Amino acid sequence: MSIFEQTRAAFALPEGIIYLDGNSLGPLPKAAEARTASLLRDEWGTQLIRGWNTCGWMAQPDKTGDRIARLIGAAPGTVAVGDTLSIKVHQALHAALQLQPDRREILTCSGNFPSDIYIAEGLIETLGGGYTLKIAAPEEVASAMSAKTAVLMLTEVDYRTGRLHDMPTLTGQAHAKGITTVWDLAHSTGAIPVDLEGADADFAVGCTYKYLNGGPGAPAFIYAKPELAERIMPSLPGWLGHAAPFAFEESYRPGPGLTRMRVGTPPIIALAALETALDIFEQTDMATIRARSITLSERFIKGVEATAPALRLVSPRDPKARGSQVSFAFKEGYSAMQALIARGVIGDFRAPDIMRFGFAPLYNTEAEIDRAVDHITEVITQNLWQAPEYQIRHAVT
Ligand SMILES: *Cc1c(COP(=O)(O)O)cnc(C)c1O
Repeated sequence: MSIFEQTRAAFALPEGIIYLDGNSLGPLPKAAEARTASLLRDEWGTQLIRGWNTCGWMAQPDKTGDRIARLIGAAPGTVAVGDTLSIKVHQALHAALQLQPDRREILTCSGNFPSDIYIAEGLIETLGGGYTLKIAAPEEVASAMSAKTAVLMLTEVDYRTGRLHDMPTLTGQAHAKGITTVWDLAHSTGAIPVDLEGADADFAVGCTYKYLNGGPGAPAFIYAKPELAERIMPSLPGWLGHAAPFAFEESYRPGPGLTRMRVGTPPIIALAALETALDIFEQTDMATIRARSITLSERFIKGVEATAPALRLVSPRDPKARGSQVSFAFKEGYSAMQALIARGVIGDFRAPDIMRFGFAPLYNTEAEIDRAVDHITEVITQNLWQAPEYQIRHAVT
């Protein structure tokens, strides 16, 4: 078996489904079922509160953080795991602003995910003091940086178009202007090689339920460059980020380094599932995954453009300029995606007209890409999306 046949066999993929939505929620690792069942039965069920010591639950977020660190070019001890990505964005942005006492502008781009932008707006409200949010077009980020900019906050891969920001170059340009950087790796982690140390990134955040396959609501993570971690006071000073949580002191004292970015009790069941997903990544490496992701996405684009020209590519054509997803604009994209899902080809839709397809080499195959293209061709050229059942809008698109 080739490496990718082995990794595919490690996932519980339903029969008859071509899953091209691992960019939203990765599939279930087969080992997660037995691992979480044993955690419930043999750890929680028998050890009760003792499990925090006897089963290593308290140390688990650090162990998981070190495994994620390896996938994003970070050193051990620089990644804290827990909470959701929105919360980690809040922490990272607040921390970055603290390093910039004389500047008031947060710069982001219009391709950023709404939650990141809402969190920035909320933080500006909470902080007072005249902070502003500047939203530039993705291509204009470099020219929008100025001596007024405190923080450059970007999501490396655009969730709608898959457009990839050049993290090392933009980080260098930001630093030359005295700007602190916050990178959101939501659509990068497990999808493309990331080298936070090489890029000299200041702060980074990401989630683990997309390309990492950690499961719905799996915990997020935050990275800080080691020399910065101890210069900041966390925006959410929870007891598990305290220097001595079990001293139950009256007042907060930050823990050493990045441990101060922990907030509360770690999600042990979710971490157990995530660990089984990280095991699968150990069978290969990000460069190999990236090369195969490009093969799959190029094959997909070529196929769709040849047979369904009504779909317009909105992702960068150069594979080096996009992440591991491909997006096509189609006016009736919502209904077309419903029709595809009914045929077992699962992608997703992002308003107003984007049909999004994610490629995950750990389990997607060339044969699946070809079958997906065939289904798209039929749905589009025979107007099958017009059926009434595909017009009904669901809460999650
Ligand atoms: C998926 C995603 C989120 C989601 O945040 P949660 O708090 O995990 O729901 C936030 N930001 C970006 C850039 C994302 O892609």
